[in-house]
Amino acid sequence: MAISAADSNPAIVWFRRNLRLSDNPALGAAIEHAGENLICLYIFETDDTLRPLGGASKWWLDKSLRTLKTDIEALGGRLILRKGKANETLAKVVQESGANAIFWNRRYDEAGRTIDAAVKSELKAQGLTCESFNGSVLTEPWTQKTGSGGYYKVYSPYWRSVQKAYQPEPVAAAPSKLLSNTLASDDLESWALHPRSPDWSTGFDADWTPGEHGAAARLNAFLSGPVSNYGNDRNRPDLETSTSGLSPHLAFGEVSPAQIWRATKLRVETGQIDAKGAQKFLSEVAWRDFAYVLLFHNPQLASENFKPDFDGMPWEGNADQLKAWQQGRTGYPIVDAGMRELWHTGWMHNRVRMITASFLTKHLMIHWRDGEDWFWNTLVDADPASNSASWQWVAGSGADAAPYFRIFNPITQGEKFDVSGDYVRKWCPELKRLPRKFLYQPWKAGPLILREAGVELGANYPHPIVDHSEARTRALAAYETLKERRDAA
Ligand SMILES: Cc1cc2nc3c(=O)[nH]c(=O)nc-3n(C[C@H](O)[C@H](O)[C@H](O)COP(=O)(O)OP(=O)(O)OC[C@H]3O[C@@H](n4cnc5c(N)ncnc54)[C@H](O)[C@@H]3O)c2cc1C
Repeated sequence: MAISAADSNPAIVWFRRNLRLSDNPALGAAIEHAGENLICLYIFETDDTLRPLGGASKWWLDKSLRTLKTDIEALGGRLILRKGKANETLAKVVQESGANAIFWNRRYDEAGRTIDAAVKSELKAQGLTCESFNGSVLTEPWTQKTGSGGYYKVYSPYWRSVQKAYQPEPVAAAPSKLLSNTLASDDLESWALHPRSPDWSTGFDADWTPGEHGAAARLNAFLSGPVSNYGNDRNRPDLETSTSGLSPHLAFGEVSPAQIWRATKLRVETGQIDAKGAQKFLSEVAWRDFAYVLLFHNPQLASENFKPDFDGMPWEGNADQLKAWQQGRTGYPIVDAGMRELWHTGWMHNRVRMITASFLTKHLMIHWRDGEDWFWNTLVDADPASNSASWQWVAGSGADAAPYFRIFNPITQGEKFDVSGDYVRKWCPELKRLPRKFLYQPWKAGPLILREAGVELGANYPHPIVDHSEARTRALAAYETLKERRDAA
């Protein structure tokens, strides 16, 4: 039975990566327990076992918390902000508020799970009700099992299993009114979440509206049309709406995969959208779940090769080339366009993520960990599971990975997927007057064409930092070395 009396003990809702009020299972359970008498709490965790958030993620967190705070205040409540170790902070808030219950949505990285397990047993031992929920994935990483009882390491059978098993839970209750309280709260400004020296986030506002409302608007816009063409367009970085752009909203739990699933299925059932496009879209959402399966069963996914065979890879690690890649100065326009898009918007189209990651690990022979780290710091959607699983997938060391010898050709990939050429022209404007024939390989254009297009190689656009076919040969040779080392071991 729901309680709403102000004199009952409050319940704490510990917001983490579920920064939304609608269909939030932990919040719904807290409402069931304590009605309007909730302590809405966000902790900026300082436990040193947790991987610190990257700069772009902190920018997003700042904006998302502001929205959540406004929404909670509009209902009469408060968002309490605290910084510190989770167990110590929670113990203090329990003591200060007299809360007798705490609810949160689960996380799946090892450091987070370890903290949560300790917090749960400490608080339960003190007699508090302590419950956790799934608010972040379709199915939790331990639920889909192969015939032999293991976890899936190949995506297609995993997806078949999810489709058979998955039933979205009933929608969780959202608050219509909240009680206020007098607990101390940090000022968000004091957390200084914007990147510094340099603050490269100044352009992010133009592309993103962090928070639950921005997430709902984006989902609605995508389901109102573009999703029907998703099967055909999803690989095209030159189209604004070829993909949903929901990833940062999902990363911060401003929308859940369950909400996406229900909304998409409803539009299919009511004949508003193409069923095939919708199915393809949901299958990509399930890739995110799959990455969590891999992370859950391989906690070191961000630092260790999923396939230990790769430990013998002779990486080169040239610091100047790493910098050129980070700064979008490799001389390969599709790679440079992607890296510049990432820097300016905090996001990069999936096709171009694959091309740039392949270029780093194969053309430059730089360890995938360096790329993962750069993406971790610069992506607004940086996700502990998807980022490491995807980097390892491209590098060839991951589960169900692209074979190492599949080396993306940055010239033909550009020609094929940047169909209109608008993507490279937008992010490499110094090349925009080049004829399309040379847009992905400006060094092939003769001096007259370059002059007419205003391109001066080595001056306003770099020469390629490696030769494509030489780099390819070197990468394949490195792979042979790896195989020899493995066979000799
Ligand atoms: C090297 C590399 C690094 C990546 N790092 C991240 C990361 O840190 N965070 C992240 O969310 N995604 C990551 N991805 C996956 C993918 O590129 C993004 O999820 C996608 O580009 C987000 O854009 P969208 O929301 O428009 O995707 P859509 O195509 O609209 O897909 C809908 C949702 O499905 C999920 N999804 C789609 N593709 C994938 C995929 N391949 N793997 C996992 N989930 C997927 C995302 O949550 C996405 O928001 C990475 C991919 C590569 C190749």
